Amino acid sequence: MQKALGVLTLSGQKVWHYLPYLFVVAVLYFSYRFSYLFFHTAVEIITFGVSFSLFILIWNIRKIIRNNFLIFLGIIFFSVGIINFFHLLSYKGMPIFSMYADSLSSQLWIAERFLLAASLPFALHFINRKLDQLAALLTFIAITALVLSSIFLWNIFPATYIVGKGLTLFKIISEYVIVAIFVIDTCLLYRERSSFNERTYRLLTLSLILNIAAELLFTLYTDLYAFSNVVAHIIIFFSYLFVYKAIVEIGLTDPYNLFFREIREADHKKDEIMSITSHELKNPVTSIKLYSELMLTELEKRKQNEKISHIARQIHAQTHKVTRIINDLSDVAKITTGQMVVNKSQVDLPLVLMDIVENVQLRNPTRKIILKISKVPSVFCDRERIAQVVENLISNAIKYSKANTPVNIRLEEKKGYATISIKDRGVGIAKKDLRKIFDKYYRLNTDKAVKGLGLGLYISKEIVDLHQGRIWVESAPDKGSTFSFSLPASGS
Ligand code: ADP
Repeated sequence: MQKALGVLTLSGQKVWHYLPYLFVVAVLYFSYRFSYLFFHTAVEIITFGVSFSLFILIWNIRKIIRNNFLIFLGIIFFSVGIINFFHLLSYKGMPIFSMYADSLSSQLWIAERFLLAASLPFALHFINRKLDQLAALLTFIAITALVLSSIFLWNIFPATYIVGKGLTLFKIISEYVIVAIFVIDTCLLYRERSSFNERTYRLLTLSLILNIAAELLFTLYTDLYAFSNVVAHIIIFFSYLFVYKAIVEIGLTDPYNLFFREIREADHKKDEIMSITSHELKNPVTSIKLYSELMLTELEKRKQNEKISHIARQIHAQTHKVTRIINDLSDVAKITTGQMVVNKSQVDLPLVLMDIVENVQLRNPTRKIILKISKVPSVFCDRERIAQVVENLISNAIKYSKANTPVNIRLEEKKGYATISIKDRGVGIAKKDLRKIFDKYYRLNTDKAVKGLGLGLYISKEIVDLHQGRIWVESAPDKGSTFSFSLPASGS
């Protein structure tokens, strides 16, 4: 059934979705039975309201939609809306412009339809082109003023209806010309269909087809109050409804899709740059670190110049820091591209911890670092990566606490998991920040002198996750923090 309807189907919609439309048709039909003028006024007020609200909506979001087709369409609807407004007020039976000729309302109608049909190719032309929005709006305001003046002031717009004779040749030919332009519009829209999502394209096509149908019906009528006119107005009502749906859909969903796409692309580009930069820096910095180490050993062996030895020690310490930053950036690039892997083997965790603590103690000779180990079965994990997590948590514990406070490290086994915890008595973390502490680049407003990129915990969490483990923190401001992570013990 839906296939048979072809372009008229809105994919995936069940029949009962069309019930509201039938209801609208019924209401419009009964309003016509009540009074033709009431029916016509109601339809035109609604279409005028749709045109105007579309323009207001699009104009106000023009900076975020950046879709020039839509902006141009909004401007067209602004002009069409104004002419439509005069058409509505000048309809036979409305007492406002009764001093004008009988054809006034149909002249306005022809002008409005012609403007709509003839402007659509321009809107399509601007799909992927730059548009001076203000110039376009001013042009359409000028066109509208010219059209209205030619009808109301200069009286040069050809007559469309003569009492007793019916429609003029100009009116009939105009309707056919308008039909032809709408057909061309439909073809042009088809050519540009790849610029729209399928649903929007269908709604716009449907609206154009309805416009063509309505115009053909208008060529038939003999009287302004004829029944074919009623059907044509109902069809026009739906053509507006579908354009409205299409535009609101593009207007509301496009900006979000565009934003997300741009954010994703920018994020991807940033990761790419970070990956290339850290890769390019890694080799030279590793060499500098190695040579500074060699230089230091040589200098210390010869014990010739303490000042130069001191400088060499500084160079070595600073290159160590740079290496850590580069490694962090390279890890983040790996994580975001899904290239972070762990090479697991049987690891003696107590040994790893003792090694790390010894090294940290060497670098921080005055700091009290206490390691407590309960018996723990060996763990199947990536030795380097787990050491990286522990080093990072210990370095944070040192960084975010006073020099005279101890750092306690504990390794124990709980419910088949080897759990390592690092406890400090430092600044602690407020409850509201605990949730975000493992996010990428997340740093708290701590002392500005404490440097960092906000990557250590993010990388640590990724490493623990790759081991099917868990990492967490218990903390309170000014009381200190305990960061813990657990890894499944071998065999469990
Ligand atoms: P960095 O230390 O480079 O800023 P991390 O990812 O290691 O990055 O830590 C993120 C943030 O978590 C830090 O900026 C800090 O505010 C907070 N934080 C981490 N460890 C501790 C800790 N032991 N005590 C208090 N705050 C901490």
